[in-house]
Amino acid sequence: METNGPGFSGLLLYCRPGFEADLTAELTDRAARAGLGGFARVRAGSGSVHFEPADGSVEALAGALPFSALIFARQVFPAFPVLEGLDRADRLTPIIEQAEASGLAVDSVWHEMPDTNEGKGLRRLVKAVERPLAAVLRKRGVLRAQADGQRLHVFWHAGDCVQLGVSRPGERSEWPGGILHLRSPREAPSRSTLKLEEGWHTFIPREDWDTRLAQGMQAVDLGAAPGGWTWQLVRRGMYVHAVDNGPMDDRLMATTQVEHHREDAFSWEPPNPVTWLVCDIVDKPGRVAARMADWLEAGWCREAIFNLKLPMKRRWQTVDQCLDHIEERLLDARIAHRMQARQLYHDREEITVHVQRD
Ligand code: SAM
Repeated sequence: METNGPGFSGLLLYCRPGFEADLTAELTDRAARAGLGGFARVRAGSGSVHFEPADGSVEALAGALPFSALIFARQVFPAFPVLEGLDRADRLTPIIEQAEASGLAVDSVWHEMPDTNEGKGLRRLVKAVERPLAAVLRKRGVLRAQADGQRLHVFWHAGDCVQLGVSRPGERSEWPGGILHLRSPREAPSRSTLKLEEGWHTFIPREDWDTRLAQGMQAVDLGAAPGGWTWQLVRRGMYVHAVDNGPMDDRLMATTQVEHHREDAFSWEPPNPVTWLVCDIVDKPGRVAARMADWLEAGWCREAIFNLKLPMKRRWQTVDQCLDHIEERLLDARIAHRMQARQLYHDREEITVHVQRD
């Protein structure tokens, strides 16, 4: 057993395949702001980034890059060096040795793979090794009934290449692979509906739903048509001002909980302040961010969830500027608030932002 701590080599992060460079830019910038250097080991399209400290410790890097603050990451935890060239006849021995040498105890083991076609192709292999690995880890005392919720992640980069890491409650995503799978509701007018639902699961603690997503509240949906997001608000029992020049779904309109305004969402103003503002407009992210800041500053809404579309190359820089703009506007107006942003599983070239006025 090692005496020099568990032997983590860096942080392993999962992301949407194709966004590794954006995640790397975010990590590098955030670490630098905390006075830390780091470098990434990345393969484009792999759906993961291994971020290593240039000088300081992995713990310091983890402290500077908490999951709750990260936008392009779906998951993050301290990880050990990659185990490469695993022997097909005995993949488990190196895994067991590394886990045991760490001296750590865990109470769950999760096998995960990249969110890619190659990753999906590893499911059978994972099914075959899951139980035998757990049995040995239990025997060796690594896997126990209780270990403060610490979880061993076994991330299969490929059939012969695996990386282990350990996560702790409160510092990680609780969804396998960092992905929340939601079933598309048949009655919803568009598949976009899942973006708002996932946004709520991501940003609003479940125990707050009854008070913060409550029946009888008023909401505004900017760029609402055909009504996937409005449908979610209506399902929670809210009354919705849906602003869009396009047509709204007939069945949604028949609920009588929706008022359709065929107007420009960037100039429309609500007749009275509402609880929720949501916005899914395809436009320049800077323009959307500025309009959201108008609403929050004016007190026209208490909470907002909106998308920033990112068809450009330097996505992290764009996001950073947009969020900075909102932050500055609200600070200047002395409005206490909380802001969080994430590229959700159902987000493609976009991220979702949540702002709550205190
Ligand atoms: N969230 C919707 C759903 O779940 O069904 C989908 C919204 S769709 C991605 C974007 C919508 O924004 C389009 O219906 C478009 O007409 C609307 N839109 C774009 N620019 C607008 C503007 N300036 N004012 C009002 N609506 C706008």
